[in-house]
Amino acid sequence: MKDKSIIIIGAGFGGLSAGIYAQMNGYNTRIFEMHNLPGGLCTAWKRKGYTIDGCIHWLVGSSPLSGMHRYWEEVGIAQGREFVYFDEYMRHEGVDGRTLTLYSNVDKLERHLLEFSPQDAEAVRELISGIRLCMNFDPPSASAPPLSRFLKGMTLGLLFALRYRSIQKFLKTTTADFVLKFKDPTIREALREMWVPEFSMLFMLFTFAWLHKKNAGYPIGGSLPMSQAMAKRYLDLGGTIDYRSRVEKIIVEGGRVVGVRLADGSEYRAARVVSAADGYATIFSMLDGKYADAKTREPYEKWPTFPSILMVGLGIKRTFDDEPKTVFGISYPLSQPVEIADAVQKRLWVHIYNQDPTLAPAGKTSVEVILPSSYEYWKELAKDQSAYKGKKDQVARIIVELLEQRFPGISSQVEMVDVATPLTFERYTGNWKGNFEGWLITPANASTLMRPMSQTLPGLQNFYMCGQWVQPGGGLPSGVMSGERLVKSLCKQDGRRFHTTIA
Ligand SMILES: Cc1cc2nc3c(=O)[nH]c(=O)nc-3n(C[C@H](O)[C@H](O)[C@H](O)COP(=O)(O)OP(=O)(O)OC[C@H]3O[C@@H](n4cnc5c(N)ncnc54)[C@H](O)[C@@H]3O)c2cc1C
Repeated sequence: MKDKSIIIIGAGFGGLSAGIYAQMNGYNTRIFEMHNLPGGLCTAWKRKGYTIDGCIHWLVGSSPLSGMHRYWEEVGIAQGREFVYFDEYMRHEGVDGRTLTLYSNVDKLERHLLEFSPQDAEAVRELISGIRLCMNFDPPSASAPPLSRFLKGMTLGLLFALRYRSIQKFLKTTTADFVLKFKDPTIREALREMWVPEFSMLFMLFTFAWLHKKNAGYPIGGSLPMSQAMAKRYLDLGGTIDYRSRVEKIIVEGGRVVGVRLADGSEYRAARVVSAADGYATIFSMLDGKYADAKTREPYEKWPTFPSILMVGLGIKRTFDDEPKTVFGISYPLSQPVEIADAVQKRLWVHIYNQDPTLAPAGKTSVEVILPSSYEYWKELAKDQSAYKGKKDQVARIIVELLEQRFPGISSQVEMVDVATPLTFERYTGNWKGNFEGWLITPANASTLMRPMSQTLPGLQNFYMCGQWVQPGGGLPSGVMSGERLVKSLCKQDGRRFHTTIA
């Protein structure tokens, strides 16, 4: 195709990366973003001097030794960013008073699990050998000499062939099923809680493998500075972002996409349109469901997604030097089950951002509590705005009371409480049911790892998708990889050699 113009819907990681790789390869792109900020779900907001970080706990590929690191260099995130690594993924305080620590270092984790529950030696060994297996699977670093990259690629291919059955076994087992191998109820509960129970076990193993190799660091400054860095990289490459520009319809003429119509009625045309916005809204609203055959509908009808969440951000007038710095926080049992919005909770998971002083004024700390919560519950409640607001206030009060159980005196140190519901995520990012990471990878859709989801729709020309809705497992790396995958395929269609640059 001679015309190199591309319209991209959405400036999240998927849209920005598609724009960045397209600009690198000679396309002229323009992004329409409905919000007034870049980053989509990778964002943060300020309340009373505290930053509530809406996303990042860990960035896979943070290590310069990892083959995935080059993505972050190409899209301008790695440069000048400080990543920190924690000894602990999370602490799980059991009802029996014992604390299970999920260490990042695999040897330490193995020792701790064996001491914690000697009767589970066999299950511990299976878990640890799975993690060690996954530790081998990292693409060769882009900065390595060509010969060593070639050899590493060959070794990985061979290892994959040799260990295919083990990999398949973990891929086809859910976390919920795997934890049943453990007899100790605290280990079972902790591992279930650490990861979505329906998720394929392989991803828990990869999580620990990345943690061990210090390849999943936390970026000081959090989410929004990363998104801003990526937007800058895109603009520096010559791209354009129109903020506060919500795309309402994708314009189709004779089976070809020719442009988009914004909510204000204005129309813009280009040779190609890429939607990096929510998949459901793209297919069923912007395109009126006209290009959704059975295969396209299947995920939206059958595949489980990450659960919708209730996110409570708190600003606390104290430091937490005596608490561990962790990737995901501390989970502790409540003195009795408590109803919080639509669900009864027996424990609370709290993430203390004591690793990042940039998120709170000196001597103070940002803290977050995240709970699964039903989108439908909040949607129903929001029919009456005062009931919706009242429930949010009640959630804020309950959370502070429950934090008091674990951190006595904290209620007098709370300076700010902010409650984000699934509707908040929906309003600011357009994601289906306020979803925060797209599709789970389960045994049922595990084949997408080998055969990625399609980035086009049947019967529709010049239209493409990228982002978390076409890359199961979601997350920031998926967004960027899906953008790169798409631009590679456009280059192939146009007979161009795909290339990348690092600023
Ligand atoms: C609490 C939380 C913790 C997370 N933790 C991590 C983590 O530690 N590590 C990690 O890798 N990932 C994490 N994630 C997941 C990660 O943030 C997402 O998977 C990723 O950001 C998705 O990127 P995306 O570009 O596909 O989609 P989005 O970020 O949703 O981007 C879509 C963009 O499209 C825009 N848009 C939507 N509709 C329209 C429209 N009609 N017109 C114009 N623009 C539109 C939206 O405003 C948005 O900017 C977390 C997410 C959350 C919420």
